[in-house]
Amino acid sequence: MVDDKDRLGSKLRDKQRGDEDHYFAQQDKARLEALKAAQGVRPGLCPRCCVELDEQTREGVSIDQCHDCGGVWLDRGELEMLSERM
Ligand SMILES: [Zn+2]
Repeated sequence: MVDDKDRLGSKLRDKQRGDEDHYFAQQDKARLEALKAAQGVRPGLCPRCCVELDEQTREGVSIDQCHDCGGVWLDRGELEMLSERM
């Protein structure tokens, strides 16, 4: 027979764990924002290499490509626009 008190206890522990996950996710986000601000990441620069990005137009959507790492950076909504057109 399962003890109701034990079940409640494990539920509470689950909730605490969830709260901790949420807390750490918030912490990570804040740390990432601070890191970005410190690095001076801004549009037009590759977030990895901090070099100028080459703006190109594909399927009518402007994309930013890095010559250094070959990374392609999209603004909000551009991925959706590209996948709709492909
Ligand atoms: Zn790069």
